[in-house]
Amino acid sequence: MDDTAISPSSGHEAWSEHPSPDLKARARHVLQHLDAVLPDVDALYGDLHEHPKLSGDEARTADEVARRLEAMGYEVSRGVGGHGVVGLLRNGDGPTVLLRGDMDALPVEEKTGLPYASRVRTEDGRPVMHACGHDVHTACLVGTAALLARSRDAWRGTVLVVGQPAEEALSGARAMLEDGLYARFGTPDAVLGQHTAPLPVGTFMHREGVAMMGAASVRIRLFGKGAHGAQPELSVDPVVLGASVVMRLQTIVSRELSPLEAAVVTVGHFQAGSRSNVISDEALLEVTVRTEDDAAKARVLAAIERIAKGESLASGSPKPPQVEVVASTPVNRNDPALLRRIRAAHAEWFGPDALLPGVLGTASEDFPYFAQGPEHPVPTAYWFVGVTPLETWARAPGTTPLEKVTHVPGPHSGYYAPDRQGSLRKGCESLTVAALACLHGGTTSTDH
Ligand SMILES: [Zn+2]
Ligand SMILES: [Zn+2]
Repeated sequence: MDDTAISPSSGHEAWSEHPSPDLKARARHVLQHLDAVLPDVDALYGDLHEHPKLSGDEARTADEVARRLEAMGYEVSRGVGGHGVVGLLRNGDGPTVLLRGDMDALPVEEKTGLPYASRVRTEDGRPVMHACGHDVHTACLVGTAALLARSRDAWRGTVLVVGQPAEEALSGARAMLEDGLYARFGTPDAVLGQHTAPLPVGTFMHREGVAMMGAASVRIRLFGKGAHGAQPELSVDPVVLGASVVMRLQTIVSRELSPLEAAVVTVGHFQAGSRSNVISDEALLEVTVRTEDDAAKARVLAAIERIAKGESLASGSPKPPQVEVVASTPVNRNDPALLRRIRAAHAEWFGPDALLPGVLGTASEDFPYFAQGPEHPVPTAYWFVGVTPLETWARAPGTTPLEKVTHVPGPHSGYYAPDRQGSLRKGCESLTVAALACLHGGTTSTDH
C-alpha cells in the first residue's frame, strides 16, 4: 500500500496526515479541465441563486444536480432521505470518498442588489434566498464531480457525490443516513464538506478538532392561569413566569459552565398573550443552544429543563412545563489526521499564505451526522472557503481577519454576496484537491 492509500472500508486504519508526493501533479492534470467546466458551474449557480428552495422543498435543485451527474456517467439515485441525490462513480480499487454539498436556502429577503438576486417568495409570502451560500456548495460539488469524471485516469477509488437537502433544518443529513445512505452505497472512508465563509476570496480556513459547535433548539411551553389584567391575584401570570425563566437561563453559561467552556444559550422567541388587559394562560419560549462539546450540551439541556420546572413550581403553575428538543446536531469534529491531510493538500495547491488560522465560530451544521457509521465512526473533514470580494474586504474596517470579518456580510444575512467567479473557481479547486488527496493515484498521475 502506498501512502496515499489508507483506511480501507473497515475504517480502523487511520489516515496519514501527509498526502502523496504526486498530489500536485495529479491535481494539475485534473484541474486542466476547470476552465471547460466552469461555464456550466456558473450557469448552475446563477440558476440556483435565482431559484432558491427552502429546506424540504429542494425538488427542483435536486433535479438540476441529478440530471448533470447522470450526463457525466454517475449512477444516480434520487429521493434519498427526502430530496437527497447520490451520484456514484466507481473507478477501480481505492478508498470511497463522499463529497457533500448542501442544497437548501433560507427564509431571508435578499438585499444584495445583484442582477441575479432572488425575488422568490413562498406561497405564504416569505422571501427565500440562498443566504448561506449553499448554491456555491452545490455548484462546486457538481463542478468537482465533472472534473473527476473527465479525468478518471488520474485517480482510483469510488466517489460518492451527495447533494443533501434540509441542512438548515438540521434534519437532511440524518434523513439520508436513516434512508440507508451507507447501507445502499457503501460506508465511505472519508467524508469531505466545505462551507462558504465571509473571508477574502482565495483564502481557506481549516480548524483542527472542533470545526463547528454542536447545537440544539428547545421549545418550552409554560403554563399559567389566565385572568383579567386588572385582577392579577386570580392569575398565574405566564409572562412573569417566562421572564423569570429567560433571566435564569442566562445563568447556565455564566454560573454552571466553566469560563473555559464556550457555549451559547439564546432565547430567540418569547410569545405570550394577546393584549394589555388580558393575562394569558400560556407562554412559549424557543431557545437555541451551542456548545463546543456534546457532554456540555447534555448538561445545558438538563439545566434548561430544571430551570423551566423550578420556575414553574415557584410561580404556582397549574402543571409542569413541556420542554422539548426540536432539533439537535452534534459537534462538528474533524478527524485530526484527515483534516491535516486536506490542509496540507490545500497548502500545496493554493500556497501556505492562502490558509488562515482556524478559529472556532458558534455556527453549527448537520454535517457531523455523516461521521456516524454503522459500525465505527467515519472520518470527516470540513473546511471554510472565503467568498468575500476583495474590494469589500479591503473596505472593511480593521487590520486582522478577526477584526474585518465582523464588518462584512456573512451567512444568513440578506447582504451575503459571494464573489461569483472567484468563489466558484476556488470552491471547485478546493473540493477537487481534497478529493484527490484521499483517492489513490491513477495511471497518468505522474505524467505531468
Ligand atoms: Zn446556514
Ligand atoms: Zn450553511
